[in-house]
Amino acid sequence: MDAEVTIFDKIVAGQIKANIVYQDDLCLAFHDVNPQAPVHILLIPKQRNGLSQLSKAQEHNKEILGHLLFTVTKIVELVDELKNGFRIVINDGENGGQSVWHLHIHIIGGEQLTWPPG
Ligand code: ADP
Repeated sequence: MDAEVTIFDKIVAGQIKANIVYQDDLCLAFHDVNPQAPVHILLIPKQRNGLSQLSKAQEHNKEILGHLLFTVTKIVELVDELKNGFRIVINDGENGGQSVWHLHIHIIGGEQLTWPPG
């Protein structure tokens, strides 16, 4: 059990509204409320299962981690603005700039992205 309920748990439960892009039994993708690019989607596992952040992953999380990455390709098929390229980001921990303690993949695109990120 994960102790703290996050805003993403509330989105999964339908208690907080989100602009949903894609979902299946295991994961949910929705538009970020504070987009950092023309397209900014968050992809999360519906069940946190201990995955408050990537660095907490354990053996039993391997399947969902693979599923999330594979799901990125499905989302790209759905969102035309991502077809010319995009970036995925996972912020981990304090120095990584993580603020919501429920693993999430940022899918960012819709413009020419620059490197390195901040
Ligand atoms: P940061 O907040 O520094 O980007 P994270 O990697 O933890 O750190 O990202 C959390 C993301 O969740 C942020 O991009 C934020 O805009 C987004 N967010 C927070 N609340 C909501 C919400 N209710 N609906 C959609 N996105 C949200």
